[in-house]
Formats: sequence, C-alpha cells, structure tokens
Amino acid sequence: MYRVYNFGAGPSTMPEAALETAAREMMDYRGSGMSVMEMSHRSKAYQDIFDETEALLRELMRIPDSYSVLFLQGGATGQFAAIPMNLLSEGGSADYVDSGNFAHGAMVEAKKYGEIRCVASSKDVNYIRIPELDVAQFNPNADYFYITTNNTIFGTRYAELPETGNVPLVADMSSNILSEVFDINRFGVAYAGAQKNVGPAGLTIVIVRKDLLGHAKSICPKVLDWTIMTEKGSMLNTPPTYAIYMAGLCMKWLKEQGGVEGIEKVNIEKANMLYDVLDDSDFYRAPVEKKYRSRMNVTFTTPSKELDAAFVKAAANEGLVSLKGHRLVGGIRASIYNAMPVEGVKKLAEFMKKFEVENK
Ligand SMILES: *Cc1c(COP(=O)(O)O)cnc(C)c1O
Repeated sequence: MYRVYNFGAGPSTMPEAALETAAREMMDYRGSGMSVMEMSHRSKAYQDIFDETEALLRELMRIPDSYSVLFLQGGATGQFAAIPMNLLSEGGSADYVDSGNFAHGAMVEAKKYGEIRCVASSKDVNYIRIPELDVAQFNPNADYFYITTNNTIFGTRYAELPETGNVPLVADMSSNILSEVFDINRFGVAYAGAQKNVGPAGLTIVIVRKDLLGHAKSICPKVLDWTIMTEKGSMLNTPPTYAIYMAGLCMKWLKEQGGVEGIEKVNIEKANMLYDVLDDSDFYRAPVEKKYRSRMNVTFTTPSKELDAAFVKAAANEGLVSLKGHRLVGGIRASIYNAMPVEGVKKLAEFMKKFEVENK
C-alpha cells in the first residue's frame, strides 16, 4: 500500500488507526449488517456513536455541562453567519480582530446582520503577525468579541488570548482545536470545521456556553440556530452521520496519544523541528514574527518563486505532498496537524536541508 506524508491544510491527513478501523467496519458495523453510512440517524446504534463522540470531545477538551456541544453542517463559513445571528442583540454590536483571511471573511459576513467593529488588523502587513490589541479599544458593551486562534493561511497563532472581561470571547479554532490545551471557560463560543484537526470534512463543531442561547434573530435559519440545535441534540435534521463517526475514531486515537496534553507536547516538538531548520538557514525565509508562529501551519519561502515550485515538486517525488502555499501568500506551507507523525516532519526537515545544499 502506498501512503504519502500529506502536509495539506485541509482536508488533511488523518490517523491511520482511525482509517483502518473505518475500513474494517465499513461493510458491517459491529454486527449490525450495515455500514455506519447506511444507518438511520434515529437508530440506537447510531445514537450510541453520536453520544460517544460527544463524550470524547467533552473529555478531551474538559467541556463542562454549562456548555452545549453541537455537531452541525455548513462549515466554519456557515458559522460566520450563525455567530451574529445567534449573538447580536437588537441594535447591538460586536468587536472583531482581523488577523487573517478567514477572520476578515467572518467580519464581512457578520456585517450583513448588524454593527461590526474592527478593533485591530494586521492586513497592512499581509497578516504576518497577530495585530497588537489595545484593551482601551474594546467595546465593553459589545455582544461578543471575535478572534481566530490560528490563522491557517498565514501560519500565525495567538500567543495569549485577549482579556475581554464580561464580553463573551468567540473563537474560530478550525485549525488548532484539539492541538493544544485551551481553558474552554475562557470562551463564550468555540467552533471549528472538522477537516483540519478533528476528522473529515462535513462536520462543524460548535461549543457554546448555555447562557448565550435563546437570542437568535428570527431570520436565523433553523439549521444554524444554536438554541434549536441544542434542544434537538444536533438532530433537527440529518446530521453528518459518517463524519461524526470518523471524528469519533480520530478522537479515540487522540485519547491514546495522551489526549490534548500529550499531543500538545508532540506538536511543539514537530513545529520546532521545522522552525529550527528555517532559523539556521539563510536560504529559507519564514515571514511570521517568531512570537506568533503557528504550531499547525508552518509557512516559508525559498529565494525565488521558481525555487518554491521546484521545492514542492521535488518534495512530492519523495512522498512529501501538498506543500504548496496558499494562493494568497505563495511560497510553501507545511500543515502539521495532530495526525502528522513525527516521522513525516523529520523527513521534511531533512528534505529541506538537502534542498538548500543542492540549490544554494
Ligand atoms: C479552513 C478554515 C475556515 C473555513 O472552513 P470551512 O469549513 O471550509 O468553511 C475558517 N476558518 C479557519 C481558521 C480555517 O482554517
């Protein structure tokens, strides 16, 4: 069997143990005589899978009962609209930090539904840093304060979370949920598309503090209404059944790795392996300010666009694939989510050194 090291930003590599279990259970899930894909979402067998997946997520992230955990569809992008529709009060406003393309997109989408203020932006430096935050600029009466904890395209991460007092912090964690320990109690809402660090595409996880429920605008579609979805256990309509099952298998694997605490150590080690090569080199350039470096998406360039392309091609020939940077930034991006083995990162680090020697 041929397996590459896939550094794609999402959909992305998944734990082999999870894929193998899924393969084994494909035709006959535990004596049910059918695939999980073929099961009614209202069946006992499926409800058990669903409940177990939610319990695993609660355990891994230490999510208390005061939070609702939702398994929805529509991606993180669907939540760009859901957030203002669920949280903005009549005549109220929200503060946004523009730290990247997805943060910017979330802000633009939210403007359809009410007054949105941009409290800080690093757009003018092409998002190579998280913008400096000045608490004096925050609106103490805002309905919520919005951040993107890891900026997938540019490779930046908040070194520390902003202090927003009584204003609920809302976080897009699409590319670093389950990669490091977060105190969920710091957040009003944390949400993520699953396809980067949780499981396959099609599932969107929303974790919302229950006291924030009950304020959805009347125009809010039912499928994006967190209150209705909480009441219905995420099953107002058919949930993304197979994606939830797969996410559960990935979470089981993560638990075996020592949970989020365990994987965080490995993730730091993996990221350091690549940043060490970059810092020791006068061939590669890592544009992100050190303090804000992502542990999930490592972005860099060679001295020229031609060499960037040659790097991506030569790496692919060695089974190191999907390293091309996002079209907005160019260069090279190595996404090293939880499921990327240390071995794969080691191989990439060695390849980088070899490519430098050969092309300097
Ligand atoms: C990928 C990504 C998104 C978009 O996710 P979709 O599920 O495709 O809508 C939003 N925010 C961040 C931080 C991302 O990495």
